[in-house]
Amino acid sequence: MTSHVMPTYGRLPVTFTRGEGVWLWDDNNKQYLDALSGIAVCGLGHAHPAVHRAICEQSSKLLHTSNIYRIAVQEQLADRLIENSGMDNVFFCNSGAEANEAAIKLARKFGHERGIDVPAIIVTEMSFHGRTLATLSATGNTKIQKGFEPLVEGFVRVPYNDINAIKSALEKNPNIVAILLEPIQGEGGINIPGNDYLNQIRDLCNQHNLLMMLDEIQSGMGRTGKFLAYQHNGILPDVCTLAKALGNGVPIGACLASGKAATLFTAGNHGSTFGGNPLACSAALAVLDTLDKDNLIALAEQKGQTICLQLSKHLQNNLHIKDIRHKGLMIGIELDVPCLGLVQMALDNGLLINVTQEKVIRLLPPLIIDEAQIGQLVDILSRLITQFTDQLSPVSHYAA
Ligand SMILES: *Cc1c(COP(=O)(O)O)cnc(C)c1O
Repeated sequence: MTSHVMPTYGRLPVTFTRGEGVWLWDDNNKQYLDALSGIAVCGLGHAHPAVHRAICEQSSKLLHTSNIYRIAVQEQLADRLIENSGMDNVFFCNSGAEANEAAIKLARKFGHERGIDVPAIIVTEMSFHGRTLATLSATGNTKIQKGFEPLVEGFVRVPYNDINAIKSALEKNPNIVAILLEPIQGEGGINIPGNDYLNQIRDLCNQHNLLMMLDEIQSGMGRTGKFLAYQHNGILPDVCTLAKALGNGVPIGACLASGKAATLFTAGNHGSTFGGNPLACSAALAVLDTLDKDNLIALAEQKGQTICLQLSKHLQNNLHIKDIRHKGLMIGIELDVPCLGLVQMALDNGLLINVTQEKVIRLLPPLIIDEAQIGQLVDILSRLITQFTDQLSPVSHYAA
């Protein structure tokens, strides 16, 4: 049967019909452990009762009015995000790419107000910021850009986790007004920078009067063991973007600003018809309530550590494992061989995982995963990795 959906995704041959917590069921009623959370979206797992209740209650009252009127739940959500992040205000939209578009517009406006007519933003290699024209131009992956040139101008690329590269870009280019990066790269392979990388960037941004803009779309909402990953560094960025887990599956994005970045947009500068509508905001409020009530953020660190320790133990004799790394429940298992085949093997065995950058198994399990489920995840995955690497052709020293 042919699908009339544009073939923009290489889709796996499975259709899910329902979920509960970490579990999903397909249309043959086969059960799967979801260790990917719809790519870091369903942090509270599937069909969470608090989110379900919030959506039902809100939809019985009001779905949408538009942003030409005040929206009480939107203001409540902004208050809660500000409390949790230390930022000053929020623009609401519907996706991660849109949140980054708002950030990019803020940087350009900041530049123009500083008298810079052609403002430029430093971005990093291996980054991912979205699929709109500006965000794919900011993204550090030529595969995502190919065929869509001309790219949006005004991005200067540097290697990730290299503070000297930023310093020399600043020396060469007087038009730089901002730095945009992920605190931990997700699509780029779960790349965790040095402990003080973000602090050094904060210092540089202060010295050079630049906006420090963090894309926390994947790393935010408690996934790394803090509400936002920058909170591990005790710093505050000027701009921070959120989406993915903010609505636990209801589309919502947010661009948070602080200090001088918080006063750049004035009436008429930016907008979104759906952004911050009552339905999406009530879902996000339920997400924030649940993260607090169930202490899920603090637990994310312990859970990630347990998963990685157990995996390391099971795989300690496997010479194909290059690295097992994590911050909270943002987990990468890097092999020395391409391992895309593991995704289908895992699917066959009732486990949902992802492979990024060809060699990095990416796990983004729901924050609600419990000890028994962690045990199951580790057992299935370590068995499959062993099976996968055992069937690789023997290493070259056996060849004559
Ligand atoms: C997913 C993601 C985006 C894009 O979000 P969309 O909602 O798909 O537009 C941007 N940045 C990062 C770090 C992401 O993980």
